[in-house]
Amino acid sequence: MTNDSGIFGLTAQAKARLLEKLASSRLSRGASSDARKAGSAGIEDDFESLSGYREMRMIRAAGEALGIGNPYFRVHDAIAGAETSIGNQTYLNFSSYNYVGLNGDPRVSAAAKAAIERYGTSVSASRLVSGERGIHRELEQALAELYNAEDCIALVSGHATNVTVIGNLIGPQDVILHDTLIHNSVLQGALLSGATRVAFPHNDPEAAERLLSGIRSRHRRALLVIEGHYSMDGDAPDLQAFVTLARRHRAWLLVDEAHALGVLGAHGFGIAERCGVDPREVDLWMGTLSKTLASCGGYIAGRRALVEYLKFSAPGFVYSVGMPPPNAAAALEALRLLRQEPERVTKLNANAKLFRDRAKAAGLDTGPSVGAAIVPIITGGSIRAGRLSEALFGRGINVQPILYPAVPEPLARLRFFLSSQHTEEQIVSAVEILADENSRIGSEETNMLSLTKLLGIGAKR
Ligand code: PMP
Repeated sequence: MTNDSGIFGLTAQAKARLLEKLASSRLSRGASSDARKAGSAGIEDDFESLSGYREMRMIRAAGEALGIGNPYFRVHDAIAGAETSIGNQTYLNFSSYNYVGLNGDPRVSAAAKAAIERYGTSVSASRLVSGERGIHRELEQALAELYNAEDCIALVSGHATNVTVIGNLIGPQDVILHDTLIHNSVLQGALLSGATRVAFPHNDPEAAERLLSGIRSRHRRALLVIEGHYSMDGDAPDLQAFVTLARRHRAWLLVDEAHALGVLGAHGFGIAERCGVDPREVDLWMGTLSKTLASCGGYIAGRRALVEYLKFSAPGFVYSVGMPPPNAAAALEALRLLRQEPERVTKLNANAKLFRDRAKAAGLDTGPSVGAAIVPIITGGSIRAGRLSEALFGRGINVQPILYPAVPEPLARLRFFLSSQHTEEQIVSAVEILADENSRIGSEETNMLSLTKLLGIGAKR
């Protein structure tokens, strides 16, 4: 389809505005590039030529031309829980990972404040060289206990944890096999490692087995990486099948629990609890402190030798500052509360199931969500997802659209994150409004267009 036939469904006015915007974004890029490139074939020193920048501008221009506002970087006035205030207006909120409502819990905030009183707001340097604080070890021991692991290491960022640990543990002679929907932080770590990287079809241990069988003998070490709970679709793997696969091929198994801790299993202990697997069967438990644990940071729990090795060699630990004391204290207190109040997890799961089942009953596509905390509403196109998100915002509901290129165009969606703090009434009402706006939007031809066809981009995605 050409661009011209692609925009056939637009009103003449919207079409004209869209073309104007696109032309000006192309023109301004062209002028700048031409100036900077003059006389030096192949050399580029302009930011506009950065990969993906032009595509991003075209998508933004298309959004503006279609009258869809920018849903990103909205400023929240205070704690974002089941409700949030944006521009002094209260919204029902489905865009936060505050899964069990511990961010803003007075006990968590008090623990952070006490740590500031005692240690200040920073430890200013790497723990290796300038010493650690008691709160670091307390947190690491509490996290290790959660997985019945020998030890644990906590780092300042969840994303950086995957990058530095995978990048450091695995090398060019090795192979990394990961789920095709794995988080960006794992991909970045794999790139850094220089290892051979193979993606297997989502949640398919048999396909992973076939791939690993074919290449294992050519590599020294093998790392198999999955997530405990996938953040795009809200589905979960068969952990036992991956454990068996890892043992059979002498691979290390890394499970990223970012969205599983506090969410899966009766007590929120994650995918091992959900699947009834002994957590010691997993070699590296990776997690973040930023979601259920109401803080910021990442961790790896596992064997003593692994943790000891990382503490002396992972660049993101050795050459980076230790976690700020209030963050460590907040996560530690949140973990204590998670253990003490498992009813939070029960409520979260009940809320997510209620949302998913009501949405399904209303004819919406909820994908493969297990109904634990994350429920996608697949709209089938970015324009439709953007419009629906905006329409919901207009009716007091804050939910983010996930658009191309974050997902392939036909899988564009709204992503609802439930929390234990939502009430049944809030959920029922949100699904009613969602179904109502979805049918209204579906009746407009413009909204059925494919963004990628419209802009002539990303044909292969
Ligand atoms: N792993 C997964 C699966 C994630 O979804 C995220 C972030 N959403 C991270 C790692 C990185 O964690 P953080 O945002 O705490 O750095």
